[in-house]
Amino acid sequence: MLSEPATSLPKPPLKPPVSTTSTKPEIVFEGISASPGIAHGRAFVYRKSEVEVPEYQVPKEERASEIERFNDALMQTRGQISAIRDEVSKSLGEDEARIFDAHLLVLEDQALIGETEREVEVSGKNVEACFNTIAQRYIKAFAEIDDEYLRERAGDIRDVTSRVLLVLLGQTVETLSKHLGEHVVIADEIAPSDAASLDRSEALGLVTTSGGKTSHAVIVARSMKIPAVVGVPGVMEDLENEEEVIIDGYDGVLILRPSDETLFRYGRRREEKAVLERRLLNAVQEPSITTDGHVVPLRANIEKEDECQLVKDHAGEGVGLFRSEYLYLAVPEVPDEESQYLAYRTVAEAFPHEPVVIRTLDLGGDKPMSGAPHLFPREDNPFLGFRAIRFCLKHRDIFKTQLRAILRASAHGNVRMMFPMISGVSELREAKEVLEECRQELIAEGVPFDEDLPVGSMIEIPSAALTVDQLAPECAFVSIGTNDLIQYLIAIDRVNDRTAHLYEPTHPAVVRVLHEIVEKSHAAGIKVSVCGEMAADPVYVPLLIGLGVDELSMTPPLLPAVKFLVRKTSLTEAKALAQSALATRSAKEIEQSCVSFYRQRMRGA
Ligand code: PEP
Ligand code: MG
Repeated sequence: MLSEPATSLPKPPLKPPVSTTSTKPEIVFEGISASPGIAHGRAFVYRKSEVEVPEYQVPKEERASEIERFNDALMQTRGQISAIRDEVSKSLGEDEARIFDAHLLVLEDQALIGETEREVEVSGKNVEACFNTIAQRYIKAFAEIDDEYLRERAGDIRDVTSRVLLVLLGQTVETLSKHLGEHVVIADEIAPSDAASLDRSEALGLVTTSGGKTSHAVIVARSMKIPAVVGVPGVMEDLENEEEVIIDGYDGVLILRPSDETLFRYGRRREEKAVLERRLLNAVQEPSITTDGHVVPLRANIEKEDECQLVKDHAGEGVGLFRSEYLYLAVPEVPDEESQYLAYRTVAEAFPHEPVVIRTLDLGGDKPMSGAPHLFPREDNPFLGFRAIRFCLKHRDIFKTQLRAILRASAHGNVRMMFPMISGVSELREAKEVLEECRQELIAEGVPFDEDLPVGSMIEIPSAALTVDQLAPECAFVSIGTNDLIQYLIAIDRVNDRTAHLYEPTHPAVVRVLHEIVEKSHAAGIKVSVCGEMAADPVYVPLLIGLGVDELSMTPPLLPAVKFLVRKTSLTEAKALAQSALATRSAKEIEQSCVSFYRQRMRGA
């Protein structure tokens, strides 16, 4: 369900951008609402993976040096791939490193090389154009073969081809922010690192053909208040750069070439939403308490240390989830202890009286580290793969650097730490052992830290949820990551638009599991927070409170709407809603009960 209350910044009324004469009609595309707000502007169509290959004639006497240039590029690419292979072999082992042997073989393929050289001689075209033509022919041929192994070779050739082309063209892979200016970005997909590097004043909105509403790029868009619509098929074909678009992040709609009437309607809608938002913001300093006196602390999810002011502006009671991996995503190498310590300390000091929960690295899945691709080789199922705590327990040096930084920051505030993607007690204990090593090191070095630092676990894997009675006694708190928990529980890839409609936070299995986690954790005497996107949707907030969840954590711009709802709800009514949900068999029915509960409370807002 879409978060109905407006949460984007008040904006000036819509006025059409400088008009271009277009005789084509308005087209409405429907997708999934991912980040609320309305954006209007010119489209920037972002095709990341394409390398633009120039084509020109080369004089006969220069063809030999053209072929030399090609051989140099093959050698340089070989150097790049061998370096990656060595790193992977050291860090992950020989099996993983063998993936790159297939890439090296492509570089030695005499048919591919020989044909390219002949093409340069015969056609007289530049080597980039010749190599691209031949390589594309190979890719197509392999992609059509029935045998799965051979089909996969098409992917290897594609990867190696773009590497060689980039070397020939003297280019490195560009990031989205470098292209932008004031535009609505339309792309097949956007990486979280791309989203994080966007400038809010330039990125008016985001539209992707793929993706679900809990993909990390979307979560970043929400925290940056960038309206977003995902899962809009076909849009890349119909749309050209600089065409005028409106995106409606409330209803998940993209309108290409809006008519005057549409522009007027959306201008009104945006003003109405801005009025509602101002009203919610005015009440944001009120305590987060139900009508019958039950306190529900509302904390913030942040990605970077510079978001503290944003949290304060929306009255966040500290930080319930610091996604620390964003410090790693777009940098060329793993950040050192000192720089991490400073980042964590900044946040700890910004909230001296409230908890700051730092989650240890959750790299992998849809968040590989772009500066260190060798640490994240391609995986068939990245969300079931080498991610989060699994990565950290294998790369102890990287993990320990972070743990030391968090421990040191704990001397400056009310820091808590939690581990992501814990699957059960053994993994929790292993992580705690590494933490203990770091504590002993700091003690020996005489470096101060909070000796009572509370350590918790995220509950976001079904196996952790089912063994929460074993985990809870060994945790100071737990925090439920509903984004992943729902993905793994219902087997719905959270970034796949084709299954997005099956991603149901009100599935009876989800409701039961949440109930179970709360019951078992309370029995062990610890508190339960929800920091997944479910906590940020006012429609689900009464259900969570009724199920007994103690605290909620969400992206700062959504705090006012959630607080508004908490203050309109009574614990008694919320419990009744949860009881009836637990006895209901259909996700749709539970969803409807939540929506009508929400609508009643919002009436008159
Ligand atoms: C979650 O899974 O709900 C969560 C909060 O973690 P992330 O979205 O970063 O995976
Ligand atoms: Mg998660």
